[in-house]
Amino acid sequence: MRHRSGEDRRTVPGCSPARRLDDPQLHVATEPVGVERPPSVWLEAAVRLFEQVVDESRVDKADTISVGMGVPGAVDPRTSRMTHRVSPIGSRDEIGDEDPATALGKKLGLRVVADNDANLGAYAEYLVGAGRDIERLFYVKASRGVGAGIIAGGGLIIRGKNGVAGEFGHMTLDRFGTVCKCGSRGCLETAIGEVQLLEQVRHAYAGRSIQVPRTLDALIERARLGEAVELRVLQDAGRTLGFALAQVCNLLDPDRIVIGGRLGQAFERELLIGPAEEELRRYALPGARNIPIVPTQLGGEAHLRGALYLGLRSHGLATG
Ligand SMILES: [Zn+2]
Repeated sequence: MRHRSGEDRRTVPGCSPARRLDDPQLHVATEPVGVERPPSVWLEAAVRLFEQVVDESRVDKADTISVGMGVPGAVDPRTSRMTHRVSPIGSRDEIGDEDPATALGKKLGLRVVADNDANLGAYAEYLVGAGRDIERLFYVKASRGVGAGIIAGGGLIIRGKNGVAGEFGHMTLDRFGTVCKCGSRGCLETAIGEVQLLEQVRHAYAGRSIQVPRTLDALIERARLGEAVELRVLQDAGRTLGFALAQVCNLLDPDRIVIGGRLGQAFERELLIGPAEEELRRYALPGARNIPIVPTQLGGEAHLRGALYLGLRSHGLATG
């Protein structure tokens, strides 16, 4: 993607997955989109990606039976409308009073159902991933932002009255801490979000002629190679995550915790999950101390698959 001077250079991939009902293979189209671009740009990209991936699946658009959409915000479970927005796609100014699912549905001429992206990741891990053999799952999606999806017995996604349930990244760890993008202070996201972890590394290397990692993936790779700074940053992120998860385990007592998002790519135990489990054991009640923490099995496909399954479920179709 080309940028004019002054435009947002930070990009994240917009993704559109598709799957034929008669074929388990997942087709995925991606396109980088600037994180600060307005919702209209995201919607145009979503339409292009939809058309591309439907074409790759060798079906007609008319054969499309369901469209699921993952959004980085709270979604009212009764209406599919966003109630709390944390990214540019959420800005109501640009798309009037419409929520993203309605706006995309009008452009595609199809019914679109939406849910929070962490909820979708949790749902997919529960159905076909790291939680497919259990009843209760707490799924963490930790990348640039930090969120969670809560699955209760029978595949029920706990969304709460306003869709705010699972906003794990905004659990307060330090009431006098750094101000968060949500307006509160000391949220978990201000300690383990991608921007904050990269900033710690940059600070440690300040004044030295070392090329610092610019993405979470690069940071994890350098930790994997044994670089002391990156390893310490990641292990401390694991400890902070484990402390926060101890509070979750005392409240929800899930069967298992799954770590997804880009932080979930640090799957080696010594990088993140081992320190997280140690801290969980130190702070959770005795009955909740041994709840296992495992990495995602679906990786970056988790929320994409979840969107497909949500679309199928909205039509009363089997999700297998
Ligand atoms: Zn916050």
